[in-house]
Amino acid sequence: MATSDPGAGPSRRLAPYRRKRDFARSPEPSGASGPVQVSDRRRFVVQRHRARRLHYDFRLEIDGVLVSWAVPKGPTLDPKVRRAAFRVEDHPLEYIDFEGVIPAGQYGGGDVIVWDAGTWQPHRAGDPPDPGGALAAGELHLDLFGDKLRGRFALVRTGPAGSKEQWLLLHKNDQHAVADWNAEQHPRSVLSGRTNDEVKADPHRLWRSDVPAAQAAVTLKPPAWDPPTPDELAELDALRSAGRWTVFGRELRVTNLDKVMFAPRGREAPITKRDLLRYSAGIAPVLLPYLAGRAMNLHRYPDGAQAPGFWHKEVPGHAPDWLPRWRNPDADPGETQNYLVVNEPAALVWAANFGALEWHAWTSRIDSPHQPTYALIDLDPGDTTTWEDLLVLARLHRTAFEHLGVVGRPKVTGRRGIQIWVPIEPGATFDQTRRWVQTLSRSVGGVVPELVSWAWQVSERRGLARLDYTQNAINKTLVAPYSPRPAPGAPVSTPIDWDELDDPTLKPDGFTIRTVLDRIAERGDLFRDVLDRPQRLPPLR
Ligand code: MN
Repeated sequence: MATSDPGAGPSRRLAPYRRKRDFARSPEPSGASGPVQVSDRRRFVVQRHRARRLHYDFRLEIDGVLVSWAVPKGPTLDPKVRRAAFRVEDHPLEYIDFEGVIPAGQYGGGDVIVWDAGTWQPHRAGDPPDPGGALAAGELHLDLFGDKLRGRFALVRTGPAGSKEQWLLLHKNDQHAVADWNAEQHPRSVLSGRTNDEVKADPHRLWRSDVPAAQAAVTLKPPAWDPPTPDELAELDALRSAGRWTVFGRELRVTNLDKVMFAPRGREAPITKRDLLRYSAGIAPVLLPYLAGRAMNLHRYPDGAQAPGFWHKEVPGHAPDWLPRWRNPDADPGETQNYLVVNEPAALVWAANFGALEWHAWTSRIDSPHQPTYALIDLDPGDTTTWEDLLVLARLHRTAFEHLGVVGRPKVTGRRGIQIWVPIEPGATFDQTRRWVQTLSRSVGGVVPELVSWAWQVSERRGLARLDYTQNAINKTLVAPYSPRPAPGAPVSTPIDWDELDDPTLKPDGFTIRTVLDRIAERGDLFRDVLDRPQRLPPLR
């Protein structure tokens, strides 16, 4: 059969897919970047694709490719309904999390969301399981474990094998069956929570057009956001202690505007929630590219930085409908299910009004939560570590990066530390980045053993600094660039130039929400390499 020759390898089987696409222009993955990985669990995806005609692409991972059907009316859980499914060419595995826009004029031009995703198992497929053989025979029974699609399905070929195969897709009458279930009533992406319309309106967010398939699925071209207008800021200033503020096209209910959120430093005025909201709106256009497409862990201090704070991850029930969010498919019951995703600037202002003083975005993106996009180095001072000691450690890391030819960008934490973020190409795991950072930091720390402790327990560190590689793990975070920190004066974790390590006026908490925007206006965003220079980490030692 033309569409699935079990004897052909993934490369040859993808030839019809490649012939129909111009990879210099289309943002779809080419499947041409190295050997296709056959994963040990079988994945499936259903993409809602608005091309010339709306259809749902139902794709099963089989033998290293995505075997695919176009289902015009979409899959259903209704066991009384059979859906026509047209076999289309196999797609490369990289396509499994594609969500974005295919340019007009290209094959399949239109917008695509990941409508459902999960794993599947062949049923009655023999021993060993042979779904390829079942397909060739024209009947595949399978169990789906997705967000929307669950239970036993069957795919049955109704016509002759060949290039335009017609199949039926149906749900068996099991405990997952739902009468009258219609895909169109469940229109949001399971990846981003967005609809096709929302993806179409902002297609750059989840796809990049000029990179090979292995990178394209996770690298973003961030949208450019305009800063709040003077009128919008004046509107905030004119509000009394609470009210409705329209900013970035959203109307937000803002509260407790005159509450002191940060005690003053010296003779400065204290910093109120109004000041914090103004800063969150002002910094949002610069910060959004670092937050978009990532789950956010909020560090909330509803009573201000002078009172204890707490982590808040679950999007609360009272959050506005427009607030972008992501449901973590790996979350166990009792764990956070729905995370805030700051895909638009108003969402950051919402978080600040919610009392989130400190913003922590995940190191991975929601479309590949197990793949970090940065390696993180955290120079964490101990009780006896002086600022000079910390600078010694930072300069040694600078030397190491120069020697390795690796791009890393430093920032002061706004408290006492320095971090270095290292942009990486997609594909690495957290285990790999953690080991890389551990190896690098051990060798740097070995130069100044009197400054560094490797003890796990703080109490056993003798007040020495820790080179912390353990934050290189899923759902562990470091504070985002440009985030305020809960301390008097509202210090901000601020990117610096490597040369500033030699500036005697540099302080780890010297930049505040009152000064950072001016600094950016003068110096630009010194952290951008972290987004724009993905690199393969060289082997160490
Ligand atoms: Mn399609």
